[in-house]
Amino acid sequence: MKKHLLFLGAPGAGKGTQAELLSQNNSYLHLSTGELLRKEIEINTILGRQVKDIINSGELVSDELVLKIVRQNLDRDHNKKGWILDGYPRNLSQANSLNEVLNEINQPLEVVFYLDIPEEVLIKRLLLRGRKDDTEETIRTRVDIYKKTTEPLIQYFKDLSLLEYIDADRDLKSI
Ligand code: ADP
Repeated sequence: MKKHLLFLGAPGAGKGTQAELLSQNNSYLHLSTGELLRKEIEINTILGRQVKDIINSGELVSDELVLKIVRQNLDRDHNKKGWILDGYPRNLSQANSLNEVLNEINQPLEVVFYLDIPEEVLIKRLLLRGRKDDTEETIRTRVDIYKKTTEPLIQYFKDLSLLEYIDADRDLKSI
């Protein structure tokens, strides 16, 4: 059983849901950068105040900041049996940083699940979800950023022979 996993896909593809299910079933650490950032906002930390406007506008938080969060959380959780990254990396620079961190802790990535979904479906899903950053305008921004900066990672992980393709346009419980 592989224990160092990553979920890749557009906002609304279901990364969080799948990662949560799989992590609970296997006692893996579920590391969602979006969730961690939202928690910081909720409890109103300095970091939370720094990122609030960025997240609510649909833009990406700085690479440096998310790297710090990822590093802290991967280091912290020695007791878990493995980990699932969700929402990180989101661009090539983050992918390179992640590679360095994983080399340092000697826990190489073993598989990347790419959740593929048509754009119309994910926009519908996001509007239904109704999170604070799920307005029509920010959804558009996030999908555009995804296409420009995150989508190239599909080829990146394919070249590393890590990519597993999943059709995410289904009832997510059936995946
Ligand atoms: P979604 O799956 O809808 O994109 P996430 O919870 O993954 O939601 O992310 C929500 C927001 O948190 C993003 O729009 C972005 O502002 C910020 N964020 C999350 N992960 C990253 C990351 N790796 N790099 C930069 N910003 C991030």
